[in-house]
Amino acid sequence: MSHAQSPDSYDAVIIGGGPAGSCAAAILAEYGHRTLILEREKFPRYHIGESLIPFTFQPLERIGMIPKLRRSHFVKKYSVTFVQPDGRRSQPFYFFNRYDRETVAQTWQVLRSEFDQMLLDNAREKGAEVREETTVQRLLLTDGRVTGVEATDKSGRTYPVQARITLDCSGKEAFTSNRNGWRMRDPYLNKIAVWTYYQDSKRGEGIDEGGITVAYVAEKGWFWHIPQHNRMTSVGVVAEAKYLTRGGVKEPRQIFDREVEQNLWIKDRLSTGRSTGEYFITSEYSRHSRYCASPGLLLVGDALAFLDPVFSSGVMLALKSGQLAGEAIHTGIIEGDLSPARFAAYGATLRQGIENMRKLVYAFYDPQFSFREVIARYPDAAGEITDCLSGDVNKDFSQLWSRIREFVPLPDDLPYGDPLEQAANVPVT
Ligand SMILES: Cc1cc2nc3c(=O)[nH]c(=O)nc-3n(C[C@H](O)[C@H](O)[C@H](O)COP(=O)(O)OP(=O)(O)OC[C@H]3O[C@@H](n4cnc5c(N)ncnc54)[C@H](O)[C@@H]3O)c2cc1C
Repeated sequence: MSHAQSPDSYDAVIIGGGPAGSCAAAILAEYGHRTLILEREKFPRYHIGESLIPFTFQPLERIGMIPKLRRSHFVKKYSVTFVQPDGRRSQPFYFFNRYDRETVAQTWQVLRSEFDQMLLDNAREKGAEVREETTVQRLLLTDGRVTGVEATDKSGRTYPVQARITLDCSGKEAFTSNRNGWRMRDPYLNKIAVWTYYQDSKRGEGIDEGGITVAYVAEKGWFWHIPQHNRMTSVGVVAEAKYLTRGGVKEPRQIFDREVEQNLWIKDRLSTGRSTGEYFITSEYSRHSRYCASPGLLLVGDALAFLDPVFSSGVMLALKSGQLAGEAIHTGIIEGDLSPARFAAYGATLRQGIENMRKLVYAFYDPQFSFREVIARYPDAAGEITDCLSGDVNKDFSQLWSRIREFVPLPDDLPYGDPLEQAANVPVT
């Protein structure tokens, strides 16, 4: 089936071997297309983003990962719970109230170094070639069409790779949207995150052991509490930079400790444990690429859009976009047409999902919003909220949004995500 013949010529070259790149590669390689992943790091490598949501199930099943995850030591996750700053907890939103308990409704809290390694190895098993410690430097262009990439390996050798299609799966680096001027900020979602890992902090029991807890911070922020295997817990705080650094506090550890002191539930949970002593900080602005594709190029995962992580949607969107990209490219190769127009449905499906999740994120950050009040007025809204939190985002939520709009305003859809039919005006170097 493969049409690419020369050693440096592939059907698809993929920038980045995270969940988006590995998922797309597994599908393309399984179909028999010559597929190459170029990954800057040596795996296993550290990555934040450890809580999966139920609708990772379908792409993980598609690429044969479910049996491997069932054999893994990752903690099983069945629910999400919200906690007020004074310690009052919502009932857990159990995913099995809406989805099959044996499949979709049970997901995992993973360690990304291990999870991403499993995904990359899976792509290799399906036939993808992977070159680690290889950095993509620029895109190759012929008459405005992307025809591959130029990459540098760890010995410093720089060489071209030709491909019918290039997938940008570069994550937060957003390789092509940064270089093309396609990167659009999300004006109200400008947050920073500070996090660490605790050993032996308190956690729930039975099916509640692996539940994620989102604990509100007074000023438009929240803690995550993610129980992992090996008695470890990932715990972090996300809020506006100006709030977290108030009074000139800049040290990640000081920021973290001060917020813990103010959150009764988190303070109690951490009271029996101890931090590993390593603290991380990132300013993660939600952002969107204006376009999803241009001639010879397709954007996938965080490289397409990154949404505030409050509802743990990132890996789901990365895997889902990887799956959709793999299938769309396969069909395009078979039908001899990889023009940008082929990816219009791809872009529209992902934008619909992102916009639905984004509305719930905006509601969450509005000080006037409370899940409890919405559900008190509309008890059946709990089901739809659970669906969105599960990642079942490609459905009609218009009733839920009009109900929530009775409490708080919600944003309009952003006009992004179509393919760019013509070659990019700005050369990508
Ligand atoms: C604070 C925080 C908390 C989060 N929590 C969650 C969570 O609980 N659950 C969740 O699902 N998501 C979470 N996320 C989001 C999640 O981390 C991402 O959405 C997810 O990793 C996206 O996958 P990806 O494959 O698109 O990109 P990545 O996983 O980032 O992979 C991109 C890969 O590309 C490689 N690369 C980049 N540039 C180049 C280059 N030039 N050449 C070669 N290789 C390159 C990188 O080395 C990397 O391995 C969180 C994010 C943040 C910031």
